[in-house]
Amino acid sequence: MSFADLSLSEPIVRAVLAEGYTQPTPIQRDAIPHVLAGKDLLGIAQTGTGKTAAFALPVLHRLGSVPAGVRPVRCLVLAPTRELAAQIGESFGTYGKHTGLTNTVIFGGVGQDSQVRALRRGVDVLVATPGRLIDLINQRLVDLSKVSVLILDEADRMLDMGFVRDVRKIVEKVPTARQTLLFSATMPAEIVSLSKSILKDPVRVEVTPVATTVERIRQHVLFVEKENKRLLLSEILKRPAIKRAIVFTRTKHGADRVVKQLEVDGVTAMAIHGNKSQNARERALGSFKAGTTKVLVATDIAARGIDIDEISHVVNYELPNIPESYVHRIGRTARAGADGIALSFCDREETEFLRDIQKLIGMKIEVVENHPYRGTFDANTRTPPAPKQPQQQRGRPGGTSRTGGGGGGRPAGGGGRPAGGGGGGRPGHGGRGSQGPRGR
Ligand code: AMP
Repeated sequence: MSFADLSLSEPIVRAVLAEGYTQPTPIQRDAIPHVLAGKDLLGIAQTGTGKTAAFALPVLHRLGSVPAGVRPVRCLVLAPTRELAAQIGESFGTYGKHTGLTNTVIFGGVGQDSQVRALRRGVDVLVATPGRLIDLINQRLVDLSKVSVLILDEADRMLDMGFVRDVRKIVEKVPTARQTLLFSATMPAEIVSLSKSILKDPVRVEVTPVATTVERIRQHVLFVEKENKRLLLSEILKRPAIKRAIVFTRTKHGADRVVKQLEVDGVTAMAIHGNKSQNARERALGSFKAGTTKVLVATDIAARGIDIDEISHVVNYELPNIPESYVHRIGRTARAGADGIALSFCDREETEFLRDIQKLIGMKIEVVENHPYRGTFDANTRTPPAPKQPQQQRGRPGGTSRTGGGGGGRPAGGGGRPAGGGGGGRPGHGGRGSQGPRGR
């Protein structure tokens, strides 16, 4: 099937083809005809499936020609974060560039004046985060009385971020005679209830990207002692094959630490996570998009909405304790049908996480045996104790030459483990057992 088969207007098809899309993705193929027909829609899909175009293209088509005079907002899109809202706005701009229809994006954390001015000038599509929109509604600076299409994107994330009450308030301001589209990656009870109250006789379209995404990505696991991860990471990121990489850590603090270490090792990197100011996050994303910074170090939450093409590698510096996060993470690469590579560092404490991930994705991840910091354990090792003394470890020649460069210092890992909970006597064994189900 081609985009021309979807009965979208010529200016829209032209813009899509110029983007290099040759055929609709499954969510686009399944959703677009219903949206064009004016139906309400419940789309169960996550970022990376092409869901933005699945709603933006038919909505642009339905908005039709540009009305005369000051343009009232006719389509309202609600999104949980500023980044996602900005991306949706960009997509409407790209797909609608030959239609003459306009959009603006409003979100909190910045002054409202320019946003208010844009609204006054008149826009066809308004993309907003709920908090700022409520502020503007309360100040009577935005009129939603002409909205004919309401879209809620990443509804489950809006729930996570505590926006559902705001969303309900906003929905009350929009005419009931409208078309409503709700997209969510998961359907927790509250989203089911929200969708029941705001959608009328919706068509349900579900895509399960897990398998398809996972299949397209070349995945590798590298067993490595925790204290060698840093060296391994720097070495990998210096390789020319790495064009643009996202490195995942479990914590915000960890992300900052990795950035600092990389900088010392001569790799430019920036962190993106919830503790960063909005401006710092935008700067990091902008510089990453522009290619000035080729490494972005991120936590799961911060990275979920990132939509940047041509990310050649995803590196899991730490494995996530929630296996689904692994799928979300590696989905940052292999966008838009491209190939991608995911490298996961797994230390001896993370083998359990690896097993959970492999169970979820239904396949074994290929082990890279031949790297200089190869740990002396594998996925079948159940919570092994830490090596007692570095001297007693079995041969890791590469690692030794690398880290032992300073003489008798730290032969590849053992001695560098002082933080590991009392050296050889760390409570790894029993302690691990109790940590296994952590976070679940
Ligand atoms: P989304 O799920 O909306 O975040 O889109 C994921 C990525 O897929 C974006 O980078 C889009 O530019 C790209 N994309 C969307 N639709 C298509 C398509 N039909 N063919 C190729 N790439 C697409």
